[in-house]
Amino acid sequence: MHIHKEPARRTSYKGEVANRHEADDLTPAAGDSAIVIRARNRSFVICCPDGCGEHLTINLDERAGAAWSLYRSARGVTLYPSVWRENGCKSHFIIWHNAILWCDSYSEGNREPEDLNPGLRERVIAILDEDWRSYRAVAMQLDEIPWEVSRACRDLIQQGLVEEGDDAFRGHYRRRQAGGPNPHNPDLDPSAAPR
Ligand SMILES: [Zn+2]
Repeated sequence: MHIHKEPARRTSYKGEVANRHEADDLTPAAGDSAIVIRARNRSFVICCPDGCGEHLTINLDERAGAAWSLYRSARGVTLYPSVWRENGCKSHFIIWHNAILWCDSYSEGNREPEDLNPGLRERVIAILDEDWRSYRAVAMQLDEIPWEVSRACRDLIQQGLVEEGDDAFRGHYRRRQAGGPNPHNPDLDPSAAPR
């Protein structure tokens, strides 16, 4: 029988360790996390937030292969991109300022971190033009967390200033072309004929 229970919604960051095996003792509960550091960041270890009890090791070291980006600030830890276990429990989630945002199951209970970076929208729109640009590339250019830039782009879409591409250009944004329809606010569509 499958027992449904509430997953962790936040990570509880426990600190730095020098070796991978030391992280397990430090992170016994779902959502507990630690960083393995030896001369440089090696990995981010988290006790799987869905409660399955396994520890996930997320590589942070580019020299050891595909690596996640880790951001640390007073607001907590952030990882980019998402963490996705393709086998086992198949957990798929984002860590953003200590918040755990679920990508598939459990996502109804997601709560994004508060937006404390409202000036970011102006900085994003200032570098967008008619070419598609990924939010990750924009984030690198602005030295910002990609999740923050992704949210700013979504806000700019709501304001009718930016559009997102389809298919291969999903996650890519550009300034909305003057005179084009605005699917989010038909009142702003200059081509809408009066009835
Ligand atoms: Zn799990």
